[in-house]
Amino acid sequence: MKTPLIFERGGQGHHGVSLPRPDVEPVRLKVPLRQRRPQLPQVSELEVVRHYTECSLRVKGVDHLFYPLGSCTMKYNPKVAEDAAALEGFIDVHPLAPQEAVSGCLEVIDTLEQALKEICAMDAFSFQPAAGAHGEFSGLMTIRRYLESQGQTQRTVVLVPDSAHGTNPASAVMAGFTVRQVPSTAQGLVDVEALRAMADETTAALMLTNPNTLGLFEQDILEITRIVHQAGGQVYYDGANLNAVMGIVRPGDMGFDVVHLNLHKTFATPHGGGGPGSGPIGVRRHLAPFLPSPRIVDGRIMPEREQDPGRVKMFYGNFGVIVRALTYVMMLGKEGLRRSSLMAVLNARYLQKRLSERFALAVQAPCMHEFVLTLQPQHQQLHVSALDFAKGMIDRGIHPPTMYFPLIVEEALMIEPTETEPKAVLDEAAAIFFELLQLAQTHPQILRDSPQTTPVGRIDEVQAARHPILRYQREDDPCC
Ligand SMILES: *Cc1c(COP(=O)(O)O)cnc(C)c1O
Repeated sequence: MKTPLIFERGGQGHHGVSLPRPDVEPVRLKVPLRQRRPQLPQVSELEVVRHYTECSLRVKGVDHLFYPLGSCTMKYNPKVAEDAAALEGFIDVHPLAPQEAVSGCLEVIDTLEQALKEICAMDAFSFQPAAGAHGEFSGLMTIRRYLESQGQTQRTVVLVPDSAHGTNPASAVMAGFTVRQVPSTAQGLVDVEALRAMADETTAALMLTNPNTLGLFEQDILEITRIVHQAGGQVYYDGANLNAVMGIVRPGDMGFDVVHLNLHKTFATPHGGGGPGSGPIGVRRHLAPFLPSPRIVDGRIMPEREQDPGRVKMFYGNFGVIVRALTYVMMLGKEGLRRSSLMAVLNARYLQKRLSERFALAVQAPCMHEFVLTLQPQHQQLHVSALDFAKGMIDRGIHPPTMYFPLIVEEALMIEPTETEPKAVLDEAAAIFFELLQLAQTHPQILRDSPQTTPVGRIDEVQAARHPILRYQREDDPCC
């Protein structure tokens, strides 16, 4: 049976609620607010329930399948964090409530700040940014304000490795800097000599994620941060990959001055559906006066200061995400966080080892929390691309890994199994990869035509990006 859209369900007069008769006279507006009646579906409660249940079954989410999306850490989020975030005292609070009435909420932010300071070896955090990229922008604005205060306005360049997440150069440009790309070595690490030659009196900052997007730990990290500091620049840590290092190594100890964290990746908030997220930024002491305000300090809301970048978001950040993160940190504790990172690395290394039996690794080295395959050989010999493999996985019940990233790897598949998966799932995933490889050798066309089990198969991705159709279009709709 074909599953109808909600607009195709129901019919004239179907409804799911019955409102009481108004006990006042209805008022007719003199000026009509709309040219015509809104074209809303008319559906009963049952029809609505079927619609949403159907949608939920079609979603490929971490709650029902393996989701090894490299760089984006799609790990399982413990439900207790949801329970905590849904407590009445948290969800019913109003952002304009007087401080005295919300001291518990301020304490939540304060307590999480203390924990994150300890985890990252930073001196102060701002919770305003709503996502990783937003944290990058806010962190760079913090650096910018600091440099201005030092009379260092000639520092206009942000150095970014060629393996960086695409948001890094984008954020640097948005914050008014010019980007220069630092090359990687054949081993996939920052080319330290190239960096040494690039760092100078125009350098505002270097942005780096460690482990990098190839899943490799930058072993020269102390030398890297020293080079930038000696040139007078700041070092920015893209902390989206903290899942690999919690409780093991701290950004502050590696020499970083600013860090953003993705609470919605590492700290128990589901993500991928567009929000809400949280990308708090932590800084070392010298940068603290330049963090976006208002901040919560010692349980009090501090007023805005002249030299800081001001607000980057309404109020104090996405509070529900902060509650989930605090729940997660307190539930696991110091040892638990460390253990979850160790397990994330162990799981990734196990799957890396299994897959390297038949696939080519982008870099021959033991990985941290993720690793990258290159399907260049399959693409050349069998004319089956990384995209074809990814689509084939959808039919076999696993979410595809990240594709075609990092940009320095041809036909890349970037795999991050996360610590929450048991070995049986990793073995099953390896078996599916091998099955797809065999299919590519024997019946490549099947892979090129995947997915077959979804409501729509291959879409024209260019068309979808250039001319997106974002709402239902009725045939009788005069506006389309
Ligand atoms: C996800 C990610 C970001 C951006 O985070 P958003 O919350 O999606 O804006 C930045 N850097 C890296 C390495 C990431 O994986």
